[in-house]
Amino acid sequence: MKNYFIKIIALITMLPIILSYSLSILYSHAAQYLTGNTDNWVIANCDVWQGDSFLIRTGENSAIVNDVGPEDDGKHKRDGIVKCLKKYHINQIDLLILSHYHDDHVGDLESLLKVQTPAKILLPIYEEPAMWASKTAAIIRKYAASTPVTSAITGQNEIIGFTKFTILNANPLISIDDDDSINDSSLTVYYEINAPSDSFESKPISFLATGDIEIRGQQELLKTVKQLNIKNIDIYKIPHHGSSTQNATLLKILNPKIALIGVGEGNSYKHPSDKTIALLESINPAIIIKRTDQDGSCAI
Ligand SMILES: [Zn+2]
Repeated sequence: MKNYFIKIIALITMLPIILSYSLSILYSHAAQYLTGNTDNWVIANCDVWQGDSFLIRTGENSAIVNDVGPEDDGKHKRDGIVKCLKKYHINQIDLLILSHYHDDHVGDLESLLKVQTPAKILLPIYEEPAMWASKTAAIIRKYAASTPVTSAITGQNEIIGFTKFTILNANPLISIDDDDSINDSSLTVYYEINAPSDSFESKPISFLATGDIEIRGQQELLKTVKQLNIKNIDIYKIPHHGSSTQNATLLKILNPKIALIGVGEGNSYKHPSDKTIALLESINPAIIIKRTDQDGSCAI
């Protein structure tokens, strides 16, 4: 009986310590999840100045690279894809996906392939602008000749490490304006990431990468997310560097917790648009917006 009481008293004494320890673990994980810079990161938004480049983690030191950002013009402070890979200790690229052939998404490919060879490369079907499409092909032939290269197909999916990717839309969307056609034909990719084992997250973290899709591309994406019942996602890459063209219905369905914007300080397009930021905040007042012009490279 005496032992029983000692155990009860010990448990009561320990209870606040156990509780505060559990809470501190939970909050530290939550804080890491929201602020990034943690070993448990799943998505990195690389600061490439005005352009896009994301790392989607697949393992301890491996990732999928979604776009590589523009070539360094030497005029702007930035990390660039090569430094970003180093920063997050990625020494194995399982897959490289290029969303479309605008230079702010593919321009730094040579710098990347000089230092790392991806295991596979997935390219958009629409080969415009032709200059960048052929330059990209030449760089791949020169530095990654033995790497399998394929064109993306709508619906294709694969599990790599702890991440699954699905190509939501790969079919070209041609309109009167050349740039609109190229932007709207960007590959849209849905990622589901099972966070590293020591994370508190139990369900996969969802991330939707959208390239530079505008009106037509976003209408297509809206149809697809409805079909696949994709909603209330964790992380959304705001299309086209946060330009003013955003489909409010799409945003309401996706209702992201975290929005990522790849954007350069003082860019001539005035990206991101104030209207877009206000729309995001009106849909989810608690939304966390991470933009490379203010936050630099950031991992979540
Ligand atoms: Zn762009």
